[in-house]
Amino acid sequence: MNTGFDLKEFHWMVEMVQTIDVGLVVLDREYKIQAWNGFMENHSGKGASKVQNANMFDAFEELPADWMMHKIQSVFMLKNRAFTTWEQRPHIFKFKNYRPITGTAEFMYQNMTIIPLLNLNGEVSHVSLIIYDVTDSAVNKLQLKDVNDQLKDLSRIDALTQLFNRGHWESQFSQEFIRYKRTEQATSLVIFDIDHFKKVNDTYGHQAGDKVIQAVSQCVRDNLRESDVAGRYGGEEFTVYLVDTQADHAKVFAERLRQGIEQLVVHHDGTAINFTVSLGVAEVNKTMKTHKEWLEAADQALYKAKETGRNQVCMAK
Ligand code: GH3
Ligand code: MG
Ligand code: MG
Repeated sequence: MNTGFDLKEFHWMVEMVQTIDVGLVVLDREYKIQAWNGFMENHSGKGASKVQNANMFDAFEELPADWMMHKIQSVFMLKNRAFTTWEQRPHIFKFKNYRPITGTAEFMYQNMTIIPLLNLNGEVSHVSLIIYDVTDSAVNKLQLKDVNDQLKDLSRIDALTQLFNRGHWESQFSQEFIRYKRTEQATSLVIFDIDHFKKVNDTYGHQAGDKVIQAVSQCVRDNLRESDVAGRYGGEEFTVYLVDTQADHAKVFAERLRQGIEQLVVHHDGTAINFTVSLGVAEVNKTMKTHKEWLEAADQALYKAKETGRNQVCMAK
């Protein structure tokens, strides 16, 4: 573009600035609005003549004033551009979102560029804010993140019981073991297995068996504290580790679980089904070299509970 533009070209420029599909605002050093294009008029519902010379933060109280002033000041001082993205601040001006495809978003997501405007002496006398409507790409990205989070959950959670599956539970458990090695804070593991479960399947069918597994899982969930981590370790085998819990307290938890499960009744095809579990408890200790040894200790206690009568809690030696 040559610099000696004539009036006609200036008219074109104004026309373009007025109709372009991004917001353009010019501010002076006191944040007073000096220019306000059609995009800003349409989305804010305030015409240029109405906001002309008004302090932008007075006219638009929803703006994050401190944060924006800080950005704008740095542009005045450093004579450099500044950028902000919707990921830092989803909305700058709270404009309603009218896009049909991304109609789920209530407000327009915005990116912003702030550019210094020099006067004839080379000083930054004004800045221009350029506001981009990035609702479509923001909503797409958020939806994608949502789906990814759901997929991540699916890969961690067992469908039948909604407890962690073995893979995820064991990786959490091994992290807990590493934490113990650092902090030596007591943690206990409870492992349990439904008694004579084959008989449940054989007598009432696999579906009835599934219902029993679900009822047991619900009972586990009802007895958990926030910091306890439960998983479905195998078909009808479950594991729970209790953070910051010594063996005697874990025993109380296990006994409560045993009694709770003993009292459950599952109804299937008009029959009431009762069932019990056997449980093994092992507190972590210094002699254990890996989390597998800890699991092994609890598993042996479970084995003892099975061998010596079932429907009971046994402690690891
Ligand atoms: P024990 O008291 O010694 O534990 O006897 P048990 O009959 O429970 O023996 P075991 O623990 O070996 O039984 C496991 C059975 O659980 C075998 C398998 O068919 C059944 N099972 C495993 N997963 C599922 C499942 O998801 N649904 C159903 N219905 N049954 C399952
Ligand atoms: Mg089993
Ligand atoms: Mg069993």
